[in-house]
Amino acid sequence: MSEQSIRRLAEYLKNARRAVFFGGAGVSTESGIPDFRSTDGLYRQQWRYPPETILSHDFFVEHTEEFFDFYRKKMLFPDVRPNAAHLALAELEGRGILSAVITQNIDGLHQAAGSKNVVELHGSVLRNHCVRCGRAFQMQDILNAPGVPRCGCGGVIKPDVVLYGEQLPADAIENALDAIARADLLIIGGTSLSVYPAAGFAESYTGPLAILNRTPTPMDRRADVLISQPIGQAFAAVMALLDETPQ
Ligand code: NAD
Repeated sequence: MSEQSIRRLAEYLKNARRAVFFGGAGVSTESGIPDFRSTDGLYRQQWRYPPETILSHDFFVEHTEEFFDFYRKKMLFPDVRPNAAHLALAELEGRGILSAVITQNIDGLHQAAGSKNVVELHGSVLRNHCVRCGRAFQMQDILNAPGVPRCGCGGVIKPDVVLYGEQLPADAIENALDAIARADLLIIGGTSLSVYPAAGFAESYTGPLAILNRTPTPMDRRADVLISQPIGQAFAAVMALLDETPQ
């Protein structure tokens, strides 16, 4: 563990009042949800179609049954719990240090950890609606339904997840850009920064930057702090330093 980088991040956090965390699938791997691009991630697993294809709007419309087969097996994790990274971010918000979590994740774990201001760029598996009448459904309704989940009105129930080929919600984009523009520290974590447009949101930021990612990212050159150990472990170490009382 890079002790010095952990200390530097703790120092930055001590002085921050509007820190923003921008994260992705790597934040939840320590909770047991695979990411896309790691060696054990979804992109390395064998499916008839690549995940980008299956998780696209066109595939949802044209191969709805196959979409839900993949979606239930690979995107829904009803028993997962927040890990040390989610919990630390919620704690930092509670202490008035962090102003927002911007996430590309769809697992709802930041809210489960207690974070209040969470910007979900790609939606959430916890929300679902009938494409015909708009009625809301729970994740459990998707899990329980055999084949294609349907509403009482006959319409297909669609997860409120942004599929490839769909637009990001306008309010999420606005809230994310606004939080980053006002940030006094940006922490990027658990993301390969390769899914656009989300990955581009941090590009115009010029303040102090920390990146916590197991593998290199396109923004590493710009970072003031770089940490490559597992993000849950790293945040646990940072929080322990923040809790140390000065001698
Ligand atoms: P990605 O799979 O492209 O990248 C994940 C990054 O996290 C990798 O660079 C990896 O090295 C790093 N990483 C993995 N585990 C880590 C750990 N414990 N500590 C530190 N770093 C770790 O993910 P992405 O950039 O978020 O883009 C993929 C897209 O897939 C996103 O849009 C996201 O919505 C979606 N997705 C979400 C979930 C989820 O909600 N949990 C899971 C899989 C994919």
